[in-house]
Amino acid sequence: MSFELPKLNFAPNALEPQISQKTIEFHYGKHHQTYVTKLNNLIPGTEFENASLEDIIKKADGGIFNNGAQVWNHTFYFEQFAKNGKKEPSGALKSAIEQEFGTFAEFKEKFTQAATTLFGSGWAWLVVDPDGELEIVQTQNAGNPLRDGKKPIMTCDVWEHAYYLDKQNARPKYLEDFWDILDWEVISERYNG
Ligand code: MN
Repeated sequence: MSFELPKLNFAPNALEPQISQKTIEFHYGKHHQTYVTKLNNLIPGTEFENASLEDIIKKADGGIFNNGAQVWNHTFYFEQFAKNGKKEPSGALKSAIEQEFGTFAEFKEKFTQAATTLFGSGWAWLVVDPDGELEIVQTQNAGNPLRDGKKPIMTCDVWEHAYYLDKQNARPKYLEDFWDILDWEVISERYNG
């Protein structure tokens, strides 16, 4: 089985000014594509030749894990954005956020803190833990919470390649703009699903 780069739900310039077309062209068109290509080159002849990305994330190591997880992580990251998405959670997800973090504003503050303080390359995640409670977690490099039995519902890529063309070293500015383009409808569907 070989993997393919999934299509984006939006035009390459749709997220401007928060994320530029140039960043999408490199981040999606080059980086995401390269993880797909490398994974497809690594799996033939291994036990992962016909595995799902989720199985690769849970069981693989080394290059197969790194590239497989990065394919999944980037698909998940790009899927949650929309130019005119739903700006705030509602329903069951809103209640769960308020139960765990107090208010949506407090949640945003804690998540931003997790994303901006993550040292080096990695991801900040909103996940549902095995007890059904929301949690903010950080993973290094290609790390993915599925590996720890947690269900991701939202993520922020804090590798420099996600923001350097637009924001240079200003990760906090990238986070500030990140909130404007999230579609909470997509995130709610993941939570409810
Ligand atoms: Mn990335």
